Amino acid sequence: MALAIVAAAVGGLLIGSFLNVLVSRVPKRESPFGGRSHCPECGATIRARDNIPLLSWLLLRGKCRDCGAPISKRYPLVEAGTAVLYAVTVAVHYDDTTLLVLGLALVTFLIPIAAIDLELQLIPNRLTLPAAIVAVVLGLALDLDGEVERLIAGAGAALFLGLPALINPKGMGMGDAKLAGVMGLYLGAPVAPALLIGLATGVLVGVGVVMNVGMSAGRRTRIPFGPFLAFGGVVAMLVGQDIIDWYLDTF
Ligand SMILES: [Zn+2]
Repeated sequence: MALAIVAAAVGGLLIGSFLNVLVSRVPKRESPFGGRSHCPECGATIRARDNIPLLSWLLLRGKCRDCGAPISKRYPLVEAGTAVLYAVTVAVHYDDTTLLVLGLALVTFLIPIAAIDLELQLIPNRLTLPAAIVAVVLGLALDLDGEVERLIAGAGAALFLGLPALINPKGMGMGDAKLAGVMGLYLGAPVAPALLIGLATGVLVGVGVVMNVGMSAGRRTRIPFGPFLAFGGVVAMLVGQDIIDWYLDTF
């Protein structure tokens, strides 16, 4: 198992590097597969030796080798974050192929979705739609019996956030509702604690912002909700069933 965790971390670094390409290109509607990456500042092609996950950013001290422009901390953070979450997912779901595969796939979509929402306050359909399709295909292939629960969880979660978004478009966005639906398709019933954790952390940070900058400025500050939902999704992917069991035992 130790070997599997190390392999997951290394794989996470490599996949994380690709997720950075998604974050840079999906909002611009560019293909993530074609062509080498360029420095956004000077346009220089990134050399292969400067494209090693995590290590290159550290060796270059976060600057472009050609023009010295700063390279966003998002690159090493996404790579390290993917490695850590892959390793933890493998450690927790080592014995359960369905939870392991669905969990890894969910993390792979949540990271770029959260990063894009943080940078651009936008959750692209070009990520949520493939995420939904992958969820259903994997679910049917790995655990046919559980698919009905996951479909109901997806529909329920999308409605739970989608109705408020329809009533008050200024608050929650439809992108958030679609993301909630996607999380339900991966998580099944544990999407409920995922949404509660996402809402609670989002509200806490929102209150923190208001206390920092004051009510009127706080109202104008746009806080993307996707990263909080994604956080709730990861927690529920890892321990959601434990949370549900604890709740049922206690109340
Ligand atoms: Zn440059």
